[in-house]
Amino acid sequence: MAHNLIRQVAARLSFSFQSQGDPDQPSGKHQPAKFPVLPQRSYLRRMRLLIGFLTLFMINPMAHTQHGIDVQDPLWKKADELAHRFILIDGHVDLPYRMGVKNFRPTKELLGIPISSEKGDFDYERARKGGLDVPFLAVYVPAEYQQDGGAKAFADQTIDMIESILAAHPDKFAKAPTVQSVRDNFAKGLMSLPMGMENGAGIEDDLANLTHFHNRGIRYITLTHSKDNQICDSSYDDARTWNGLSPFGKKVVAEMNGVGIMVDISHVSDKAFYDVLEVSRVPVIASHSSCRTFTPGWQRNMDDDMIRALAEHNGVIQINFGSTFLDKKVDQANKANRKKLDAILEKKGLTMEDAAAKTHIDAFRKKNPTLFSDVEMVARHVDHVVKIAGIDHVGLGSDFDGVGDSLPTGLKDVSQYPNLIYLLLKKGYTEQDIEKICSGNVLRVWSEVERFASN
Ligand SMILES: [Zn+2]
Repeated sequence: MAHNLIRQVAARLSFSFQSQGDPDQPSGKHQPAKFPVLPQRSYLRRMRLLIGFLTLFMINPMAHTQHGIDVQDPLWKKADELAHRFILIDGHVDLPYRMGVKNFRPTKELLGIPISSEKGDFDYERARKGGLDVPFLAVYVPAEYQQDGGAKAFADQTIDMIESILAAHPDKFAKAPTVQSVRDNFAKGLMSLPMGMENGAGIEDDLANLTHFHNRGIRYITLTHSKDNQICDSSYDDARTWNGLSPFGKKVVAEMNGVGIMVDISHVSDKAFYDVLEVSRVPVIASHSSCRTFTPGWQRNMDDDMIRALAEHNGVIQINFGSTFLDKKVDQANKANRKKLDAILEKKGLTMEDAAAKTHIDAFRKKNPTLFSDVEMVARHVDHVVKIAGIDHVGLGSDFDGVGDSLPTGLKDVSQYPNLIYLLLKKGYTEQDIEKICSGNVLRVWSEVERFASN
């Protein structure tokens, strides 16, 4: 028992020594190693940390169940079985951007990455292990294209890349233009690859592009990203260019309803969110947002009133897994450390990118490891939505491959969804509840959007 605990603690400590990426800002640069490596440290320091954890354990006998994932527990086995029995949808996976759209060539080597990869959070093999059936691939359009032009072309290029993945692996992946196709693919044992465009900049100034992108397979559009665009204001941008939706943005939402593309309100400002609810005649989604009550003041997440309003319109919030989205305390500690590190480097006349900075960064990180939230916090976000808005309005939108090395312990990649389901079962969720969270709720919205567009 104690031996087991030491091993668990050591394993947990090893997670804490990774550098952190930019949350929700896919950099496309270096992704975290798939398997964390325990960095070299003095034996003494390692023992000190262990003793610290053990003391904590002795003071609080419940501490060992805090992250409580026990794969030997029959309930975990049930969670694993449910992850595979139910259709499991993830609302936001940034694989395309990780693969480097700009330099992408459909070579054998690159086309192998979505099947099995050393780096990153998503690949087919791990997704199968975790029970994932429907990753919505993000067709992410960086805000730079809003200024420099070429947004539509870049979105098209990204879709080309996804099509070449589909063409290379017809035995594993399939297009998913409709809810029925998702069900059919699942029955055939194929993984669906629907697409969501992250940033309506890709529409440019022409509503006809909505039909174009619908024809190409886009099934939701995140209205904006890190900056205000031609459609609406961004939660990350203080400019508040439109004070919500722009006049063109109102037409875009109406046209999305007409064409049959889900409106995604992740990333938009609060005012833009409420404007969308007024304009949209069908339910909307937040493809990858979490609950602001755990991150007070951070507009990228949804507050309780917004979640209730979303639910009143029969929509769904799909919980983002990034630590920044889950727990303000973790985020603040990481940011404070980053400030300290920046100050140290500045004193020496260095920046993070300088080669000479590496030894200073390593030394600092040894003393001040990056902190992560955990899978229990993700379960708490799900539970919070259920408590304030009901079981019919929550889903999963991990942001895998999009939040760098900030994923929570126990939910580090697409192989680990059963851990989350396990914790929900432990909280008393029924099989029917789990099915709604895994896919039922999102499929309901998608069906309503299809029905409206076809009438
Ligand atoms: Zn995002």
